[in-house]
Amino acid sequence: MERYRILPITECYGGMEHRLYPVVLFGPEDAVLVDCGYPGCSAALEEALTQAGVRPEQLTKLLLTHQDDDHMGAAFELVQRYPRLQVAASRTERPFLSGEKKNLRLEQAEQLQEHLPEEQKAFGLQFCQRLRAARPVKVDLEVEEGDWFPWAGGCRVLATPGHTPGHISLYLEQEQVLITGDAAVAEGGRLEVANPQFCLDPEQAERSLERLRGVPCARYICYHGGVLEKG
Ligand SMILES: [Zn+2]
Repeated sequence: MERYRILPITECYGGMEHRLYPVVLFGPEDAVLVDCGYPGCSAALEEALTQAGVRPEQLTKLLLTHQDDDHMGAAFELVQRYPRLQVAASRTERPFLSGEKKNLRLEQAEQLQEHLPEEQKAFGLQFCQRLRAARPVKVDLEVEEGDWFPWAGGCRVLATPGHTPGHISLYLEQEQVLITGDAAVAEGGRLEVANPQFCLDPEQAERSLERLRGVPCARYICYHGGVLEKG
């Protein structure tokens, strides 16, 4: 039986096409969507799910690797459409997702905005507005380092902070697959730190990447860049 499926979606944002790679994990009692794209992505996700033979209403959980809008943006609309969907995230990311604390990317962008050269200010402002458009979502289930779930034959939660403080990656032990989120991107056939200039803690991000490189696996699924076979 199929244990997981990659659901590539293409979203046009800010005049550019973005290819994103959410994944759905199948378990004995769950179908778990890992990350869900920008606000407005729910239609593209539903189509990708249907093409994969999964009815969107079959989804039981939405696991968010971190608080960035390209990963959690569609969460609010998905929960509206599928009320039984439980949202899961790390304890550290939770208050940023639920709106109890200000989104760290927005805080970073607002601070940067003041220092941008004049000709980039319009773009910076647009970026801030984009981040503000992501609606907060209630987190129903907290996960943390070492947690294990029977998804995809066995799924271990790995804390991979740096990109954001509570970022998590998922290790599908039986499948020998690592779902990196934004702890790593696939670039030119290599695993790299995603947008190092925007990492909230670059040194921590480098350590997390090293950790992921060391995990015994056959393939990495990166949210940006897609599949990278090891070796
Ligand atoms: Zn991302």
